[in-house]
Amino acid sequence: MVVPSAAPASEEMFRRAERVVPGGVNSPVRAFRAVGGSPRFMVSGDGPYLTDVDGRTYVDLVCSWGPMILGHAHPAVVEAVSRAVAAGTSFGTPTPGEVELAELIVERVGPVEKVRLVNSGTEATMSAVRLARGFTGRSTIIKFAGCYHGHVDALLAAAGSGLATFGLPDTPGVTGTATADTIVLPYNDLALVEAVFAERGDTIAAVITEAAAANMGVVPPLPGFNGGLRRLCDIHGALLILDEVMTGFRISRAGWWGIEGDLEDWSPDLFTFGKVMGGGLPAAAFGGRADVMSKLAPAGPVYQAGTLSGNPIAVAAGLATLRACTDEVYATVDARAGDVAGIVSTALTEQGVAHVPASAGSLFSFFFTDATTVIDYAGAQVQNTARYAAFFHSMLDAGIYLPPSAFEAWFVSAAHDDAVLERIAAAAPAAARAAAAVPDVTPASSASSVAGGA
Ligand SMILES: *Cc1c(COP(=O)(O)O)cnc(C)c1O
Repeated sequence: MVVPSAAPASEEMFRRAERVVPGGVNSPVRAFRAVGGSPRFMVSGDGPYLTDVDGRTYVDLVCSWGPMILGHAHPAVVEAVSRAVAAGTSFGTPTPGEVELAELIVERVGPVEKVRLVNSGTEATMSAVRLARGFTGRSTIIKFAGCYHGHVDALLAAAGSGLATFGLPDTPGVTGTATADTIVLPYNDLALVEAVFAERGDTIAAVITEAAAANMGVVPPLPGFNGGLRRLCDIHGALLILDEVMTGFRISRAGWWGIEGDLEDWSPDLFTFGKVMGGGLPAAAFGGRADVMSKLAPAGPVYQAGTLSGNPIAVAAGLATLRACTDEVYATVDARAGDVAGIVSTALTEQGVAHVPASAGSLFSFFFTDATTVIDYAGAQVQNTARYAAFFHSMLDAGIYLPPSAFEAWFVSAAHDDAVLERIAAAAPAAARAAAAVPDVTPASSASSVAGGA
């Protein structure tokens, strides 16, 4: 592994952090444990760049794990947030901005008739699962291995020992009771989902799936997978929850559904959103069919609430961001994602580094493996993570900030320009050489058993 070049101010800050914060970070992947070294502490962002406490500037290919689709400190977002802050930070009452944001989401994503705002993607999926259970009067949830839906207890489940057996806790602290109604199946295996439905379809409240899986590296749904889930849910009276927390308002105006569901003429019953729709502040949402959403309190019996839900500053950031997300922005993000993926893949190929380039719309990642394709979590885990670590650190030293784990998607923004591409192109060959220098013996996977978790 490349010895990380010194970053004394970050290292000092990390030592301080470790004394008072578990692992020194407020979300695990930030700690760099998957790639080694110590994390960089950032002090500011501007367009496609981040600046750390040592005064170094990096091209940012994480973009806050998705939200910063316009780049950092976009003038329209900064202005909207500043105005909102000056008008008071929270009222605990309804506000006009919440209605405007809900209207914008409903307008953009056809099948969403009603939407409720929450504070994180985790809250959105937790609430959608509760609502699906309340609506159907059933208990069982099907989820897919490697799909991450936030740290909801019932969804931090690992596969049981056989077909249609119930999930086991995937982390200490989650009880067997919490996962006892969760069935975990391999991603992209529609036949298995069909078999489980055949066996116990009348107990299944919902299937929850990432619209395109991007928390085990990027693994797009095989053609017909999402549509097939829709069909099976219809046959058996279950709800389909499409988790678009990462893909929503990033892949297109209407997320992944906007390019696949709309085209194939299927819709989920419920969507979950987050990341881009908060514009970098804590805002998320779940929404969908009016008859389902109307079961939520106070309209209906299913309880759900939040002191800061629909917070006026978060809503202002989200509104300004979505309003600026024009067709041109999506075209730019698509093009830049393709450019960066091409530069990196070419550099790896030139150095003979085996890899599978993976993408779903403008989300992309690379599996450092000899395999020709990756379609599920088992496939994603068989990769040479030490090679990724070497690649990561060489890029970091050259001022390119990549996801600090081989199991995360890469993100670009509309602010990523030609100058950024040149910097990446200049850095990639040396990073590919560093990866090539790591032996071919694939070490035991260093993946956490829990996928995702930015
Ligand atoms: C990030 C993410 C979540 C969790 O969102 P948080 O805001 O981190 O709680 C849920 N689902 C998907 C698909 C995500 O990518």
